[in-house]
Amino acid sequence: MKVLFATSEAHPLAKTGGLADVSGALPAALQDVGVDARVLMPAYPSALEKAENISRVFRIKLPEHGETSLLRGAFPGNGVPVYLIEHDGYYGRKGLYQDESARDWPDNAMRFGLLSQFAAWLAGPKTPLDFKPDVLHCNDWQTGLAPAFLRYESAKPTPTVFTVHNLAYQGIFPPDVLKKLGLPPESFSIDGMEYYGKLSFLKAGLYYASHLTTVSPTYAGEIQTEAFGMGMQGLLATRGNELTGILNGIDMREWNPVSDPHLYAPYSADNLAGKTTNKLSLQAELGLQSDAKAPLLGMVSRLTHQKGSDVVIEAVPQLIKLGAQFAVLGSGETRLENAWRKLAAAHPGRIAVKIGYNESLCHRIEAGADIFLMPSRFEPCGLNQMYSQRYGTPPVVHKVGGLADTVTHATLENLANGKATGFVLDRLDRTSLVDALGRAMILFRHKLAWQKLMRNGMTRDFGWAQSARQYLGVYKKICRA
Ligand code: ADP
Repeated sequence: MKVLFATSEAHPLAKTGGLADVSGALPAALQDVGVDARVLMPAYPSALEKAENISRVFRIKLPEHGETSLLRGAFPGNGVPVYLIEHDGYYGRKGLYQDESARDWPDNAMRFGLLSQFAAWLAGPKTPLDFKPDVLHCNDWQTGLAPAFLRYESAKPTPTVFTVHNLAYQGIFPPDVLKKLGLPPESFSIDGMEYYGKLSFLKAGLYYASHLTTVSPTYAGEIQTEAFGMGMQGLLATRGNELTGILNGIDMREWNPVSDPHLYAPYSADNLAGKTTNKLSLQAELGLQSDAKAPLLGMVSRLTHQKGSDVVIEAVPQLIKLGAQFAVLGSGETRLENAWRKLAAAHPGRIAVKIGYNESLCHRIEAGADIFLMPSRFEPCGLNQMYSQRYGTPPVVHKVGGLADTVTHATLENLANGKATGFVLDRLDRTSLVDALGRAMILFRHKLAWQKLMRNGMTRDFGWAQSARQYLGVYKKICRA
């Protein structure tokens, strides 16, 4: 089985969020189950810097885009082959999708149109490579046009999988983009990629791909409903039989408290002493009061409406009264960034806020916090709640999407039978959040019960092996069809 995995970001070459974690880890896991998986992505400056053994495959002048090259290289660490599309005018800048003021790049349609076009070309019958994929695996809107390009190119197109990592980002552009990218006018139809008079890259993927997947079973069901479907629920429900929810894994080597180079001290389920060292050192690093007993609540996320940090902000005064400390890392909407800055200024020593993106600090918060906060309004899969369980930091989550599928609520029964790993809110509002955290903080004071909860999460298998086997099942199915 040969699979070309097309993506707009992949850790450690380029990352803005969870898509990069998946694209950095899943192809390696696919190789472990015998798939020849290779990644295709743009040659951003960071990717050129970090990929290994880069060589040029060919150079070409495209009528729609001009001078473009294809490079070949490998991921550092696992050696997964990667093809990088080099186009300085499109990708030779800082910021994957947006400029420094969080404004979308005005030429995103052409930038990701090129990525989609290349994916279809390299996976299709006219590929110039000696690698002939059986399946093209596309991810999110940035690669959504690829299944359409394939469909209009050949009567018997290469089978495609389109994975939805987040339905909220839809790649919507003016209709003239279609012509600029050389797609036929008939594709601009309700049975095609037209969406309320505009062109939607996401809808193209959802409509033209042979099979759809999303990143958790619960989210797969949710997106077929009005509450979570973001306008695509009709199409998704129509394709319900060709939509599979496959839970993401995590990179168990990179996220391992025994060997994590970002931490102050190693620790494990068998030896938890190092966890306290991490907490005290994190408190010192962030200017929080040194206090091993104060429950330290950690949060790392994009500061957007999705992640529910506005609800946490509302709950802060009550949580401070209950004795909590906060370590918050994130960036995003200005109003949320400012609200957190204000809270940090009002509660020095109790609330530490770092606005920005900081991978190393993210690891130290996962390790140093006692409780991890992730009350998302919707969450396709979510990774941080899995990292936190692995790091012995029970998460408090909202019962949606992948959060519902990966965290087992600390009911008395689940605590007794060793299954509990965190706290799951049925509803997301200030009262429910304070209530759940109140209960979590009571349990936190019962050292033995709390350590049991930590260990339940730490010893869970969140690895990729099972998911990779499920993806292989999907690939086989669409090749047979
Ligand atoms: P999403 O993809 O919706 O942002 P996920 O939980 O699936 O949410 O994945 C987010 C990824 O990005 C995780 O690896 C998380 O640790 C990381 N991340 C998010 N914000 C930051 C930040 N400010 N600094 C460092 N890492 C971050």
